[in-house]
Amino acid sequence: MNEYDIVIVGAGPAGSAAALRLAQRAPQLAARALLLDKARFPRKKLCGGGVTRHAWALLRELNVTLNVPAHPIHQLRLVYANLEATLRWRDLFRVVQRDEFDATLLRAARARGIQAQEGAGVREIARDDAGVVLQTDAGEYRARVVIGADGANSVVRQKMGLRSNRVSRLMEILTPRAEKTRAAEFGNHTAVFDFSPLARGVQGYYWDFPAWRNGAPVMNRGLYDSRVRPERPRAELRDVLRAELKARGLELQDWRLEGHPERWFDSREKYSAPRVILAGDAAGTEPWLGEGISHALDFGMRAADYVADAFAKNDFSFADYTEKIARSALGRRLRFKKFIAHYIYDNHGEWFYRGGWRMLQLSLLCLRRA
Ligand SMILES: Cc1cc2nc3c(=O)[nH]c(=O)nc-3n(C[C@H](O)[C@H](O)[C@H](O)COP(=O)(O)OP(=O)(O)OC[C@H]3O[C@@H](n4cnc5c(N)ncnc54)[C@H](O)[C@@H]3O)c2cc1C
Repeated sequence: MNEYDIVIVGAGPAGSAAALRLAQRAPQLAARALLLDKARFPRKKLCGGGVTRHAWALLRELNVTLNVPAHPIHQLRLVYANLEATLRWRDLFRVVQRDEFDATLLRAARARGIQAQEGAGVREIARDDAGVVLQTDAGEYRARVVIGADGANSVVRQKMGLRSNRVSRLMEILTPRAEKTRAAEFGNHTAVFDFSPLARGVQGYYWDFPAWRNGAPVMNRGLYDSRVRPERPRAELRDVLRAELKARGLELQDWRLEGHPERWFDSREKYSAPRVILAGDAAGTEPWLGEGISHALDFGMRAADYVADAFAKNDFSFADYTEKIARSALGRRLRFKKFIAHYIYDNHGEWFYRGGWRMLQLSLLCLRRA
């Protein structure tokens, strides 16, 4: 059997960041750690690919430079019905292709000496007094500690009985630029967040992100429904997306539509069991904009720190993990964004959003004049 001190399940941003942090902070533990993923990289990951300044700062903290094509966004066009407000800020975020981004991050972890096994989907997990046994497509592994960084549909979370019903819904298409409506946003480095779907019961927004794919310009378009107010009726996302695309001169049936859930973090839930902790989307992200890459990196780094401390104390109960995350800067950020989501995605009338947009327009105007 393959035996390790730490097995990290999932080599997305959370898992790779956990591995890189271990290599940085506790190299002797990193040498006895394994990063497992069911996929072979570069692998597809459905995502808008918007990587925020905070995410790039975390990568710098890990001493990692990722040389991947990244389209910088200098303007955010915030729309509600016929109202618009534009926020101008250099390098607000950059849009990447997740297959390239994640594969490069994994390569960086390997370059720091982290062992990684691809094509090893975890199917079963069992715990005993000595540790955790993982049954995978690539055989059996034993670990003293497991970090579950295996995304929104986490098998680690399910097998440990750590339930979560806090699920957001996302749908996305990728369209080339040479489409009927010429995407002016591309040349202007503009991302669009269109909140008009609020009027149709969506607890989120429609997005347009310009990006590069294989050297060609594309637009990443999608719909985000946080469901942070689960008591409200579910919107028909496909119909809403169809209408949003039509308004932009596009037909939904002409494109490949894909969907994937996200989970959002709530400190009342449990994200650990003895010898097992969750990080990144496996635990959850924020339900306001559904931005998850920076939180996954942050979560992974904090999970690695937590595990390194546990080895130093030889205590693997992990009883205070959720509380520690909730009280950290990451937890405060997630709570704050959840608060905003709860507030703006409540059942407000048209007047509320129109008034809000007028205030936003005014504030941005004052900001520009200042
Ligand atoms: C449509 C969509 C658009 C989004 N747009 C943005 C955006 O623009 N900006 C942003 O910041 N966030 C965005 N997000 C959120 C972002 O994609 C996630 O928050 C982020 O990928 C979380 O990283 P992670 O490492 O936790 O999980 P993931 O990136 O999902 O990585 C999990 C890894 O675990 C592996 N895995 C899964 N199951 C197993 C198993 N059983 N055994 C072994 N390995 C396994 C997977 O192969 C994968 O490599 C979007 C999400 C969606 C769905």
